This record gives sequence, C-alpha cells and structure tokens, in this order.
Amino acid sequence: MPNCNWDKNCRFVTLKLIEEHLKMKEYIDNIVFKITSEISADHKCEAYAIGGFVRDILLERKTTDIDIVVTGNGIDIAKDVAKRLGKVKMSVFKNFGTAMFKFQNIEYEFVGARKESYSHNSRKPIVEKGTIKDDQNRRDFTINTLAISLNTNTWGELTDPFDGVYDLENRTIKTPLEPGITFSDDPLRMMRAIRFATQLQFRIEDKTFEAITKNRERINIVSMERITDEINKIILSEKPSTGFKLLEKTGLLKIIFPELQKLKGIDKKNGISHKDNFYHTLEVLDQITSSTDNLWLRWAALLHDIAKPATKKFDNVHGWTFHAHNHYGQKMIPSIFKRLRLPLNEKMKFIQKMVYLHMRPIALIEDIVTDSAVRRLLFEAGDDIDDLMILCEADITSKNPKKVEKHLRNFKIVRRKLKEIEEKDRVRNFQPPISGDVIMKTFNLKPCYEVGVIKSAIKEAILDGEINNSYNEAYQFMIKKGKEIGLTLNN
Ligand code: ATP
Repeated sequence: MPNCNWDKNCRFVTLKLIEEHLKMKEYIDNIVFKITSEISADHKCEAYAIGGFVRDILLERKTTDIDIVVTGNGIDIAKDVAKRLGKVKMSVFKNFGTAMFKFQNIEYEFVGARKESYSHNSRKPIVEKGTIKDDQNRRDFTINTLAISLNTNTWGELTDPFDGVYDLENRTIKTPLEPGITFSDDPLRMMRAIRFATQLQFRIEDKTFEAITKNRERINIVSMERITDEINKIILSEKPSTGFKLLEKTGLLKIIFPELQKLKGIDKKNGISHKDNFYHTLEVLDQITSSTDNLWLRWAALLHDIAKPATKKFDNVHGWTFHAHNHYGQKMIPSIFKRLRLPLNEKMKFIQKMVYLHMRPIALIEDIVTDSAVRRLLFEAGDDIDDLMILCEADITSKNPKKVEKHLRNFKIVRRKLKEIEEKDRVRNFQPPISGDVIMKTFNLKPCYEVGVIKSAIKEAILDGEINNSYNEAYQFMIKKGKEIGLTLNN
C-alpha cells in the first residue's frame, strides 16, 4: 500500500501512487483484462475487476482469484473471452449467472452487475440487473467495493465510491451502507467482518461493531457450513486470537460456539483463583501458528482444554483441579464437530488423540524421564508424536520467562529421548513381533482368550523394556508366559 497520511488534498497523490503501483504489478497488462475490455466493448457494456482482488493488490497480498463484473451478461462475455484465449475449460453456473475459468493459475469469475434486495427470513436476496454502482452498493465492506475499470476510455482507473482506499490506509472494516441493514440483510457478513479484521489485522469501525453486537441473533439464519468456513479462515490466520476475542465481545461466540465461551472467566475460592482458560487457549492457538499451518493441529490447540469447565473442582488440599479434562475433552469433540459440520473422519480422530495426550509430555518432564514412559508415549502417539510435541510446546504460556525457558529445555530432553528410544526400539508404529497364529501353533490352540493374554503380555513387556522388540526375545517370553498360565507346548 502506498504510504500516505490521508487527507482530501492527499487523495490525488495517493491515487497516482496506486496507478503506478498497479502498473508496476503489471496487472494492467494482464491479457485477460485486455481481451475482456475488447469483448465488453463489442457487447456494448462496461467491465471492471472488482472486490477482493483490488483490495489484495493494494495490500500487496497474493491473489489467485479475480472477479470481473460486467454491466451485461456475465456468462456470454466469459464465453467469448475464453474462446479468444483458446484452450481454457469453463464452468458455468446458470443459477448464479456466473462463469469461471482458470488461466495461468488464476481463477477468473465473470458475473453481471446486480442490484439486491432482501426479505427478513432469508439471506438469499432478490436479484435484479444493475449498474456498477448498484453492484458496489451490495458489497459487504468499503475495502471490498473497489473496482478497476477495464473500459477503453477509463482503462485502469479506480472506482472508489465509499472511500475504500481511505479505509485500507486506516486499516478499517466498515460497511458501505447503514451497518444494521447490511448485517440484518446477510448476517454472514458479521462473520466476514471479524474474519477480515483477523486476517488483515484491521479494526472494525465503531458503528459497524455495534451493529454486529445488535444483530448477533441473526446469525441463526446462516448455515453452519458457512459459519465454520469463516472460523477455519480465522484459525488459519497469523493471529487467530483477534477473531475469537471479537466473536466473544460481540456475543456471537456464545451462539455459535458455546463450549469455547464457557472457558472464559476466573473463579476464586479461599483467595485461590485459576487462570482464565479462554485467554490461555487463545495464547496457545496464537503460539502454535508459528510452528504449523496444519488446520487440524490448530484446531487441537483450540480444543485442548475444552473440558476444563466441565471438570473444574475445588478442594482445600489441591485448590482448583480439572481432573481428567483431557479424557472428557476427547469425548466432547464428536458432538462439537457434528454441530459445526466438521468432518467426522480421521481428522477428528487426530484431534481427539492430541487432546487426550496433550498432558503426557509435560507429565514426563515433571518426573524422571524413564525409558518405559517414553516408549509408551511413542506407542500411543505413533506418527503423530511430532505434532503432539508442537502442541505441548505451544501450551507453555507462563508469564515467567525463566519458567518458559526451563520447560522448553526439558522438552528438548524429551525430544532427544524420544529419538533415542525410537531408533533403538522402533515402537512408533508398533507391530507385535509375534502374531496370534504363532501363539496358536506353539501351544496348539484355537482362537481363544489365552491368545489375547499372551499377545498383550508381550506388548507390555516390550513397552516396559523387559524384553527387546525382536522376534527371538518375544518368542522366549511367549514360551515362559504360556507355561505360567498352564499351557503346554505343541510337539
Ligand atoms: P477471500 O478470497 O479471502 O474470501 P474475498 O473478498 O475475495 O476474500 P470472496 O468471498 O471471494 O471474498 O468474495 C468476493 C467479493 O464479493 C468480496 O470482495 C465482496 O466484495 C463480495 N462479497 C462476498 N461475499 C459477500 C457478502 N456476503 N455480502 C456482500 N458482498 C460479498
């Protein structure tokens, strides 16, 4: 973004700078834009690149989607542009009046300019043909209304009816029209406002913020899939805590994610208080973003203490405890995922595993790190052990730098031990060295309870370090164990 302290006199300079900037980016020489310009002139209509694309080039953010709005039939113009480009595969969505194609790794979406009006019970508008101004009026935030002309006589000019550039410079999210109406018409925009504020680290303008607070109950008419889509984008941003704090402040969080809301607050008894688990969780989530882009590991950070409110107890000996919150947390996840329409598959199981195991590495460093404890952790975490360690390191949120340093140092010891033991014992993806078949043949057994007893005794002996993870040692152990429980060898 060109640097300029905005005032009205400065506007000309800023726009000039923007123009330079656009040229520099060579978007102005974009072949699709050139062809669109010629084709739309043939169709006797106007064309503009609009919305997120313009916002993002001005913010120097990477864009892979470009929306083009035309004051005519979007599908017809897209078809003609695609024909001129040759060899592009186009998708047409007749119901929405849009057409899309990919060209040189950029997705172009063409749509006719429209005017929208809403009824109270639905976020689906009544749509009519409109002018470019109508189309800008229907957009959610001033920074998303910017349009660049692709018309010959005004080529490359910025159309900015709501001072969106000013809001970009001042890092502000603001609706172009009356915010109450904007949010009541389409309440998804409340989530989008908070998501953009998080992704761009912008401030939501006061009236816009108040209108979100006032209209929060309207979120109930939005489908859960769309809400979750925005939550995922918040989680994937650099500082997700911004979004969750805004959701909480506006009252949206209680409605869409009550389990997270319940983490907020501090109880005090006999002068003893516990930490606020909402802010702790957000700190963990922010911290994990520097170590991973994996959405599901970030979800695990968000949910790692989710059962703390349900397991909270106070007694005079221990003070505040959250006994087995990892276990209950793991159990809460399927119903949360079901409600949020998140996938009930191996991703969810991964998060359950992370939540269940998240205290184990810390417990390890509190005691002497024994080989057998490390072996058991490796066995239970399997290939997810590295992700678990990332989560646990992010979970250190002490304000005392000495304490943080000590914990991180101890985690280094755990990581070294994990490596040593894995190299030696290979228990990360443990496969028992003796199969049930071998046990049955050795003792002349049919499938029965005793086969299971021996198999699990072998596994326990390996994890405890009593024997090595090898066929020979496991075989000898099996013979010994079989005799102990009264089995006889098959001759
Ligand atoms: P991102 O790609 O990060 O989601 P974007 O702004 O490009 O950001 P899209 O969802 O692709 O978001 O929307 C493209 C444009 O369409 C927006 O910039 C905005 O102008 C408009 N828009 C999208 N959704 C809405 C909405 N619910 N209400 C009003 N305008 C919207």
